[in-house]
Amino acid sequence: MQIRREYNWPIFAAPRIADMQYNVAQLLKEPMGSVRIFQVEAGQVEVLSPVKDIWGDVRMVRTHQGVLVNAELEVASVVTCSRCVDDCDRVSTLNIEEEFFPTIDLHTGRRMALVEEDEDALQIGEDHLLDLTEVIRQYAISDQPMKPLCRAECLGLCLECGVDLNRSGCACNEAPIDPRWGALAGLQDLRN
Ligand SMILES: [Zn+2]
Ligand SMILES: [Zn+2]
Repeated sequence: MQIRREYNWPIFAAPRIADMQYNVAQLLKEPMGSVRIFQVEAGQVEVLSPVKDIWGDVRMVRTHQGVLVNAELEVASVVTCSRCVDDCDRVSTLNIEEEFFPTIDLHTGRRMALVEEDEDALQIGEDHLLDLTEVIRQYAISDQPMKPLCRAECLGLCLECGVDLNRSGCACNEAPIDPRWGALAGLQDLRN
């Protein structure tokens, strides 16, 4: 499938090999402080679940030992409503700041000692590709609320029969309540 991509390259046009992978070979050859800025357009990159789509700006700066990524990305992801267990979309802003380190010294071709010592270090592949896909997924997951809601007024599932009360009513709570006692019944519910 041919995916059409349009990017602005305000500084340099680093070729993009695959989705959310950036070839930083040239950037790594440049002095500290060198910058690349990429724009990610909605609907143009493939992403990992639960992320459905992303758009925003990615900024990369050559650091002493690697590449610092600062990205402000809007992320649409799928969350499961904690009341009605329906899947729904949620858009949030991720502010990503991570430093990536090369595995191969561009000048000597040798493996870098730094990333061998630190297994948790984010690595730039031997092909000089800096891959943001998994980082974005991790940020998106940790950004999800503990109890997501499809909407604030979601009615949830009936605790008795399991019916989705957003879609239909059920007979479980249909015992007629004298409006004069309604408030009292509410209090009773609170105590139970
Ligand atoms: Zn819901
Ligand atoms: Zn019910």
